[in-house]
Amino acid sequence: MKIGTPVEFKLPDKVVHGHLYKKGTLRNRAQVIDNSNIIWRVPEGLLKVRKGSRRNTIVTKLDLERSKYRVGDLVTFHSRGTVHSGIIFKLNPTKAVVQLKSGDQWTVPYNLLQLVLSQNPSRASSGRVQKISDKARSLMDTHGLKEWNLRFDESIRSLGKCNYRDRIISLSRSHVLDGKEEDIIDTILHEIAHAIAGPKARHGPEWKKVAIQIGATPRSYFKHEE
Ligand SMILES: [Zn+2]
Repeated sequence: MKIGTPVEFKLPDKVVHGHLYKKGTLRNRAQVIDNSNIIWRVPEGLLKVRKGSRRNTIVTKLDLERSKYRVGDLVTFHSRGTVHSGIIFKLNPTKAVVQLKSGDQWTVPYNLLQLVLSQNPSRASSGRVQKISDKARSLMDTHGLKEWNLRFDESIRSLGKCNYRDRIISLSRSHVLDGKEEDIIDTILHEIAHAIAGPKARHGPEWKKVAIQIGATPRSYFKHEE
């Protein structure tokens, strides 16, 4: 079953419709993203392919929630009737680490946070993620990668990744939020060139040729994983 395939699974009281987000392994359950962009973890054997179109572009609820915050922001959250306020210390994949005045650190899911004061109020937020996702999708389609998936990841070491096995191009969300738009477009084209040139090309002449053809800067980035 390929990533992006329309699938369904049964719960005691309903049937959930979604798309395959991540394949299962011997140890881990498969992941399904539903129409509200919520991710479910389900044993792959319980998934049934359903009719419908594939979904190759995925912006998760978490992508959008997490996009509101940066390290240093002042936030509040409730716990057992008490309102706590603190500074975002670290942005983990699904939760933020918030440091209170007392020095205590709490790990809080993004959807429970309220932003009080940001370091830079004019910075990009979830709208940017959506806009770049549309742009990247249209570039991928234009260059013949309709079957390839697009998504965002937590990486801070690499700006973009090209996963040949699952046919996924993923973009670093922090790069998408805080990078220059022209650099982000260049990253997208860089990864598209990898997808077209194939895994053996690396940053060699074949890849460079494709990169130049499609308008990517033909260089390997310092921060890059294929
Ligand atoms: Zn590269």
